[in-house]
Amino acid sequence: DKVTNQFHKQNPKSYEYSNQMKTVVPGGLQHNLGSTDPFALVFKKAKSDKIYDIDGNEYVDYLMDGGPIILGHHFEPLDSEVVKVISESGPAVGLTHENELRFAKEIVNNIPGVEMVRFLASGTEADMLAIRIARVYTGKEIIIKIGGNYHGWSDQLLISTNFPGTGASEATGIPSGCYENTIEVNQNDFNGLVQAFEQHKGKIAAVLAEPTGGHAGTFIAHPDWNQTMRDLCDQNGAVLIFDEVVAGFRLSLGGGQAYYGVTPDLTVMGKIISHGYAAAGAVGGKKEVMQYCHPSSVNGNKAFTGGTLSANPVMVTAGFFAMKYIKEYQAIEKAAAYADKLTKALNDLFSTRKDLPFFVYNIQSIMHLETSCYNGISLIDNPASRVAEVTERYLVLKSYDLALMAQGILPLGDRFYCCMQHNDESLQKTLNAWEYVLSLIPVN
Ligand code: PLP
Repeated sequence: DKVTNQFHKQNPKSYEYSNQMKTVVPGGLQHNLGSTDPFALVFKKAKSDKIYDIDGNEYVDYLMDGGPIILGHHFEPLDSEVVKVISESGPAVGLTHENELRFAKEIVNNIPGVEMVRFLASGTEADMLAIRIARVYTGKEIIIKIGGNYHGWSDQLLISTNFPGTGASEATGIPSGCYENTIEVNQNDFNGLVQAFEQHKGKIAAVLAEPTGGHAGTFIAHPDWNQTMRDLCDQNGAVLIFDEVVAGFRLSLGGGQAYYGVTPDLTVMGKIISHGYAAAGAVGGKKEVMQYCHPSSVNGNKAFTGGTLSANPVMVTAGFFAMKYIKEYQAIEKAAAYADKLTKALNDLFSTRKDLPFFVYNIQSIMHLETSCYNGISLIDNPASRVAEVTERYLVLKSYDLALMAQGILPLGDRFYCCMQHNDESLQKTLNAWEYVLSLIPVN
C-alpha cells in the first residue's frame, strides 16, 4: 500500500491519462510488455539509458522497449540517418530501397546461418513464416515447440509459452485444431525430444526454439541443448529454427547461434533489427531452404509471404545503421560488461539477506532475477518443476517492480535489459533502489 500510494502521488498525469486510455483502448494499453496495474506509465522522452515520464520523473531504463534498444535511446548518429531517409525518400512507396540490399548483405555477412533474408513487420510474422517455409521445404507438417519459449501470438504457436509442460493455450479464441500439428517438448528434456521424433517418425518439419532457452533465458537452455536439437533435426530430416528475436544482436552480432556455436537452418529475427525505429521482423536461412519463400501467391510450390510495409525505408535504414553503430561502438560488449557488473553487485547485496532466495544471472546483456532459488542449478536441471515458482514469482514481482519504479528504476518483470549507455551512476541508483526494496520486506 505504501508503495502504491507513493506511485500514485508521483504520477498524477499518468494516472489521469491511463484512465482515459481505458475508455478508448481495450485494456488501456497496446504494448504487451507494459502494465496497467495500478495504471500505465506515460513516457514523454527517452535519452541514453533514461526514460522521463509526463509527470517529470526520471527512470534508469531496463525495459529497453522489450529488448531492441542496445545503443541507448534516441542515439543521435542513428536518429540522424533515420531523419535523413524520411526527409530524402519519404515513407514506404511499394518499391525496394537501396538500404534494403545493404542491410540484407550486412545480415548475411554477420549471421552464420543466414545466406538469404526476407524482411517482415514483426517477430510474430517471422515465426509464422519460418514454420511455413519449413513445412514447404520438408513436405512435413508437425512443429516441435519447446515449452516456455515465446514465438509471438499467432494461432499455432501461442501454446505453453508461460506455463511449460501444460500444453495449454494462453489465449481464448484459438480453435483447438490449430494445435493439431504443434507438439510441445519441455526445455532441456533430452529424452522427451528423442521420444517426440520417434513417436512422429518422418512427420516432423521443424524444431523451433529460442537459443537462450525460453523467454530469453528465464527457462535457461542446458549447455548441450542447442547442439542436441541440431543433431536430432539432422538425423530426422527436420529444419532447426532459432528464434533470435531477442538474442539477435544482443548476444553477438552473429546472434545466439554465433554465441553458442550452433547454426540453425532458419533464423527468426525481430524488433532489434530496426533498433525499435519501426515495426520489424525477418526470416533468414540457408539458400536451399529460403528459396521456398515467395512474394507472390501464384508461385507453384512455395510459401507465400506478404507484407505491405515489409522492408520499408525507415526499417531497413535503421537496421543497416544500427548494425554499423553496434559494431563501431562495441555496444554488445559494453552492455554485457555492465550486466556482468550489476549482476555481481546485486548478488552481493542479496547475499546480505539470507532469508530471501533472490538470485540474479545474466546472459550477456540480458539479466534475470530469480526470487525462488539461491543459484542457477535448478533452473537448468528441471525447468518443468519451476512452473509454479514462475507463476508465483510474477505475482510477487509485481509489487517489487512497482517499488523499483517508485524509486526511478524501470524493469521488465523479472528481466533487465542493459544498453551500452548504462554507467556507474545508473548502477548505483539501481543498487540504492534495491536496497530500499529489501528494506520493505520483513526479515524472516
Ligand atoms: N519471439 C520472441 C523470442 C520474442 O521475444 C518476441 C517478442 O517479444 C516475439 C517472437 C514476437 O515478436 P513481436 O512482438 O515483434 O511480434
